[in-house]
Formats: sequence, C-alpha cells, structure tokens
Amino acid sequence: MSPVVCIGTFSLCRGFYFKDKGIPVTVSLFYDLFFIELHFEPAKLSVIMSFGLFFSGVVADSCDNNGFSCLLPGTMFVLASTFLAQKQAFGLELHLPFAIFACGKGPFKRKETIMLAYTFVEQGRFELREKPRPELQDGRDAIVRVTLGSICTSDLHIKHGSVPRAVPGITVGHEMVGVVEEVGREVTSVKPGDRVTVNVETFCGECFFCRHGYVNNCTDPHGGWALGCRIDGGQAEFVRVPYADQGLNVIPPSVTDEQALFVGDILATGFWAARISEIKEEDTVLIIGAGPTGICTLQCVMLKNPHRVIVCERSEERLRFVREHYPGVEVTTPEGCKDFVLCHSAHGGADVVLEVAGGQDSFRLAWECARPNAVVTVVALYDKPQLLPLPDMYGKNLTFKTGGVDGCDCAEILSLIEAGRIDTTPLITHRFPLERIEEAYRIFENRLDGVIKVAVTGRGR
Ligand SMILES: [Zn+2]
Ligand SMILES: [Zn+2]
Repeated sequence: MSPVVCIGTFSLCRGFYFKDKGIPVTVSLFYDLFFIELHFEPAKLSVIMSFGLFFSGVVADSCDNNGFSCLLPGTMFVLASTFLAQKQAFGLELHLPFAIFACGKGPFKRKETIMLAYTFVEQGRFELREKPRPELQDGRDAIVRVTLGSICTSDLHIKHGSVPRAVPGITVGHEMVGVVEEVGREVTSVKPGDRVTVNVETFCGECFFCRHGYVNNCTDPHGGWALGCRIDGGQAEFVRVPYADQGLNVIPPSVTDEQALFVGDILATGFWAARISEIKEEDTVLIIGAGPTGICTLQCVMLKNPHRVIVCERSEERLRFVREHYPGVEVTTPEGCKDFVLCHSAHGGADVVLEVAGGQDSFRLAWECARPNAVVTVVALYDKPQLLPLPDMYGKNLTFKTGGVDGCDCAEILSLIEAGRIDTTPLITHRFPLERIEEAYRIFENRLDGVIKVAVTGRGR
C-alpha cells in the first residue's frame, strides 16, 4: 500500500470516529494534510502519529469525566509519537506547536463538549444519550453542572404524551441542584462556583405578571415551564438556565444538596399553595394526597400553625409515612374522608382544603369536604377535565384557587431549610447515579420498593 493511501486511511478513520463522537477534527486533519503534503516520505512515522491520535480518542472515550488521570497517558502517547515523528523527519522546532494544538483539539476537546443526557425520544421512550454540552446562548444564561437531580411525576406525563408542548429530542428533568460553571455577561446574582437550586419556572422578572409575583404567567416567549419540557433540562451532566438571575438561588453553606433538591419544584409548589390558601391558626386544614408534592405542601402548611391538619391518602404505605414523620397530623382515606372531616372540624367541614392528589374523584372530594365560605386550593394537575357542579354547591360560597406554581419564593424556602424549619430529605428513598437513570425511572414509575423520590447523582461531583 502506498504511504499516502495508508496515512489517508488512518486519518479518515480517525476523522469518522471523532465525528461520530461530536469532536471537531478539522484542526488535526488539517495538520495531517499539511504533514502529508510536505513530507509524505517518512510515511511510517506519520502513520504512528495518526495511530496515536486515534488511540487517544479511544482512551478518552473509555474514561469518564473525572478520569483526567486516565486521559493523560493517551495524550502523552500522542504527543510523544508526534514529537518523535517530527524530530526524525524535520527537527522539532517547526512542528511541536502543531502537535500540541492537534492533541488539544482531540481528547481534551471531547471531554468538554460531550455529556450524558436523559432524552425524550418519542412518546413512551426516554433514552440516555450523548449530547453536546450546553453553551451560553444569551447574556442572561448560566451553565450549571448538575450535582443532584430528581424525577418528577411531570416527567412521566411527558413520557406518556400528556404534555403536548413537550418537544421530542429535549433532555428531560426540571428538579435539580448544581454548581454554576459559567455565566453570561448580564448575570449578576450568581457566579461560577456557586452552589445553586434551579427553578422549574423560567421567568423574565420584568413583565407585568413577573412584577406582581405571578411568575408562572410570565409573558416572555421563554417563560413558564421550559426546562426539561420545551428546552433541555437537568437529567444530564450540565444544563443551560435562561434568566439565571431569576432561576437560580444560592444554597447556604450549611444546607446540603439533598436538603435543597426539591426547592425549585415540588417544595416551591407546596410553599406557594400554603401561601395562597389564607390559612389561620384556628383552622382545620385538609390536604388531599400524600405523594411527594402533598408532603411538601403538608410541611409548608404546618409552618402556618393551623389548629388541625388532616391528610387524606389512599396508599397505606404513604399513610404510614405521614404517621411516622408527622405524628401530630390526622390521617384518613378517601372513603372515610367526608365523615372524618365532619367529626374533626368545628363548622361542618374543613376551613381550608388543598387538593394535591389529582385523582379521579379527588376534586369532588375537595369541595365536598369544605365548610361554607372555605378556601379550596387546587394544586393537582388532572389528566381529564373536572366537573364544577355549581347547583350542588350553591350557597356554599366557596373560593377556588387553582394551580400552576409561582416559584418565586425559593430564597425564603432555602432560609427556612437553613433554620431547620423545613426538611424534605425523608422523601428521598432511593439514590442512583446518572448512568443508571433507566433503573431509577423503572422504580419511580412503577412505585416499586416503597419509593417516594429518587435522587440522581450527577457525574464528576
Ligand atoms: Zn415537577
Ligand atoms: Zn416575565
């Protein structure tokens, strides 16, 4: 085989291999061409060089993000073989800078640009894929290295096709904490190195709704639930957060990642629900549903010190969890709920009802258990339309408040966690690394093994 064909084949192989991994190969290929063009005589040495680069790509591929030490020998090999090739052929001076440049564009570049991301492929199918690492797109963006994430029921809604605005191909996940890697020019509230919570809502902070604290209705085209739905989310190694000044909150040093994990989504939801429900100290409060959001709501309701809190839940396992962790709280089941509330309230029903279950009959149960002039807050997301039978409730004069979290209280929630007044860590029943997220989904989705919430640890923590 002629030396040119030989070198060309190796270069081409390496080119395709790198291309497949998303690595820019232009520079090193240019270098090869330059090398071949000028000096195809010492072909053997060029082949060694090409081999070296290819080998380093394989080494880089087989080690993980924190495997710098594994990466090093591969790179040294490339450098050495290139160096030798050049030295024997032309002397060192001319080509050493090129060699370093080519190596830098090879394995090192790959480590920076490729990451694992759990991806919404099509209805019914999520997959862990390699994707380019996100980059800043706007001066108000931040890139966050995800250290801990979680799986939310809303992720399952995307998987099962009940979130029509979810875009196939996006990385899912909207519950996460991490470390700021990079910020855009206009970001002022966080800096690289800060540990942060990420808000499920993306909001501009400037429009009419944002200025009034109704951030869920932000009119910005990117506003609302974007992360892990319309744009790439956080079940990945890195995530780009738009409007970082609004969407990120710095975690106090004494608060752990696990303590802060739910701040940006389910805890924000519970906090918001309790805040808008006008709870007074003499009230009997009924919470329907003791899933993860129900428990977060319960904790936030308890901050208001109501006279009595009743939790209604169908699952015996979840009722046991409530009994165990919140001994002062009364529990009941949907079947016995109406009678139980009647017996345990002073005015013919609960003063405040928070509906967090989203079950088939839970909306009806909510207004039926409410006393006249009560507040009924509906946090739940339903699969189907719900009936509001006004004739049946005529004269009850109920006030309904309906859901869609305004997640703008994250700083306050973090300070309550810091003060030891909120603790959602008992909700984390399972822990998996990102590489095993499939398994985490299987357990969460099928409610196996007593799961409440799963924590997914990022790479390179
Ligand atoms: Zn969620
Ligand atoms: Zn806005």
